[in-house]
Amino acid sequence: MIGPEKDCKLCDLCRKRTNLVLPTGDLDSPVVFVGEAPGENEDLQGKPFVGRAGDILNKLMEEVGLDRAKVMITNTVKCRPPMNRVPMPEEMAACRPFLDSELEGRKAVIGLGKSAIRDLTGYEGSMSQIVNTRQHITINGKDILFIPTYHPMACVYQKVAREQLKMALITVKEEFIR
Ligand code: URA
Repeated sequence: MIGPEKDCKLCDLCRKRTNLVLPTGDLDSPVVFVGEAPGENEDLQGKPFVGRAGDILNKLMEEVGLDRAKVMITNTVKCRPPMNRVPMPEEMAACRPFLDSELEGRKAVIGLGKSAIRDLTGYEGSMSQIVNTRQHITINGKDILFIPTYHPMACVYQKVAREQLKMALITVKEEFIR
């Protein structure tokens, strides 16, 4: 797996970041969750999903009995976008070789929310049309199962998003994690 250099300057996100946010969990897991981008807490700690979104994800994982330590968690970009804005296509493109190397050879990739889905499939339509469907993405020439689902923050106001994300977590637990 390749990651950015500590002083990576491949895109402008480097200007405001505190820390690079690299994958955590089981780095050899068959399953990778891909979020959008680091937020404030992630930027300060250098770890993905350690703030509010992480709390929600942890709670849902606990509810379905999925051990977070058994999956790998990462983001489309490794640096926090200023004011938590959505990462821009050129920022995701600059970081893409790192994401590709993280995803290579996995059994399943779970896309958490629109940015991850856009980055990995190019899909720009509504979430309700594709949530929890089975898609395929090509990573370094090889096919990998891709399941698009809701971002944990979407669950704050949407009960449906919460139920759908929970169903995706159940699928991961039952099919891919022993
Ligand atoms: N939201 C994300 O998409 N990723 C994180 O790491 C934290 C919040």
